[in-house]
Amino acid sequence: MQERNQLSTEAYKGVRDFYPTDWAQLTGIFNKVRGVLELWGYEEYNASPLERSELYESKGNEEIVKEQTYTFMDRGERSVTLRPEMTPTLARMVAHKRRELAFPLRWFSIGNRFRYERPQKGRLREFYQVDIDLVGLPAGEADAEVVTIASKVLKSFGAKDSDFIIRVSSRKLLGAACAAAGLTGEAARAYTRLLDKKAKMPGDEWTLAARALSAQDPLEEIERADNPTVRAAKEETLSFVETLHERGLGNAVFDPLLTRGFDYYTGMVFEIFDTNPTNPRALFGGGRYDELVALFGGEAIPAVGFAFGDVTFADFLETHGYLPKGGSNAELFLGTTLGSVRDAERFADTLRMNGVRVFVNLRDKSFGDQAKDAEKRGIRYFLAYGEDEVKGATLTLKDIPAYESTSLRGAEDVADWIKKNR
Ligand code: AMP
Repeated sequence: MQERNQLSTEAYKGVRDFYPTDWAQLTGIFNKVRGVLELWGYEEYNASPLERSELYESKGNEEIVKEQTYTFMDRGERSVTLRPEMTPTLARMVAHKRRELAFPLRWFSIGNRFRYERPQKGRLREFYQVDIDLVGLPAGEADAEVVTIASKVLKSFGAKDSDFIIRVSSRKLLGAACAAAGLTGEAARAYTRLLDKKAKMPGDEWTLAARALSAQDPLEEIERADNPTVRAAKEETLSFVETLHERGLGNAVFDPLLTRGFDYYTGMVFEIFDTNPTNPRALFGGGRYDELVALFGGEAIPAVGFAFGDVTFADFLETHGYLPKGGSNAELFLGTTLGSVRDAERFADTLRMNGVRVFVNLRDKSFGDQAKDAEKRGIRYFLAYGEDEVKGATLTLKDIPAYESTSLRGAEDVADWIKKNR
């Protein structure tokens, strides 16, 4: 009979529990990304997921701020929001210490973000993002660097140019095209947001909605490029794509339909997509946001950056067979008897000092059962350390998946063997 008021073991809708193997996989991915970013001189920062709600109200993404934030009043009547993205926090932190920081900043952060979305493939209510930003440099080399890093991150997992496509456009270009079509201010912002949703709209719905905003289509202005401002911005964007090609990013293309949802972008914008249609959502997204830091007062500080989420990224890696195995598991299960546990702990310590990850048995079970336990846990090696071994008998190291045993003498021999055969 089911007890009344029994608590559910399900996680909250749209969020995940990470059991150790899941977490090992995620942290394995992040550690690899950290390795790449550190090679480029990027430093890791962090902040609380709790922010004052006003941070997102002035310049964000209308859809996210109005419909997708987790916002609540705290006990002191302050409106608090769980961060839906990291860029506003970064801008706030940069503005706060603008006099002390050594610009340009090459910063990255890895953490959870919260959006009240309908959970579906590639979309959850809590997900992780890696944010990478280069702050304090104008458009040019800095933009090329961040797009290059995005590509390097993917390639560090084994991805090839043909696995993904880098779509590039420019808010400056779109702004000029909107102006040429007679759209400025709020009307231009409304058009930009509409364009961001175009891919998800049926063609006639798009045509109607776009017509309602403007008789002339800004996309046609970009296509024709006979307005001098539009032409200059288009040439600049095409030449940026050319720079990416010269840097070896052959899969970069100009795509005037790309705009990105956030209002704060001011220049180059880009998104990276899987070429395999099973993952239709953007894997990476970013761009230049030169005005955001100035919202906190003081002079503007130019910046460019991007983010990618763990859900779509893991889907990409899995689709292409690039998902790394989690590597934090113990590699040796040390079998013990009631009488040998203390000596076994000492023996385990010597192995640990030699860099071996050891799991020591503390239960009263036969060695046979302990070896089965090791197998169930996915631990590769088993070594029975009973009274005979304490007294100096030869050690038998079992490689469980290989069905092989090796005779060894002491802890150092065992450590050397395991490390050599990793
Ligand atoms: P955005 O911050 O919306 O530009 O998104 C940047 C990246 O974060 C996307 O390309 C996705 O990989 C990821 N992302 C955004 N929203 C979600 C979500 N609700 N669930 C999972 N991943 C997301």
